[in-house]
Amino acid sequence: MEECVFCKIVRGEIQADTVMETDEVIAFRDINPQAPTHIQIIPRKHISSISEIEGNEDVLMRMVNVANRIAEEEGIKERGYRLVINCGPEAGQSVMHLHMHLLGGRPMRWPPG
Ligand code: 5GP
Ligand code: ZN
Repeated sequence: MEECVFCKIVRGEIQADTVMETDEVIAFRDINPQAPTHIQIIPRKHISSISEIEGNEDVLMRMVNVANRIAEEEGIKERGYRLVINCGPEAGQSVMHLHMHLLGGRPMRWPPG
């Protein structure tokens, strides 16, 4: 956790473009955006992956609430948006601190890559 990049953002050791904060959740713009709106929503607490959520289920809904509020602020609530949680190597999880991608502002394709 000392070296976890998202824990460093939580501690303020790495700068981030923060868009919303609650006592349990922080949301900031992705450093490498894949859509006009691309925001990371993370728990302050270090949870390595959604596969390790057991016992911390409440924070997941708090993350969803934050995502929905940001979507409204970003003006994409009616157009639609995508919430993505990558879990593990084959899904492409590159940061081992639970994070939910909020993507929007352009049409999305399905299936994902
Ligand atoms: P994953 O691939 O694990 O689902 O998503 C990790 C995301 O975190 C990527 O979209 C990547 O661009 C973003 N990211 C990685 N390091 C940083 C950082 O230091 N700051 C910000 N704002 N985003 C980061
Ligand atoms: Zn962490």
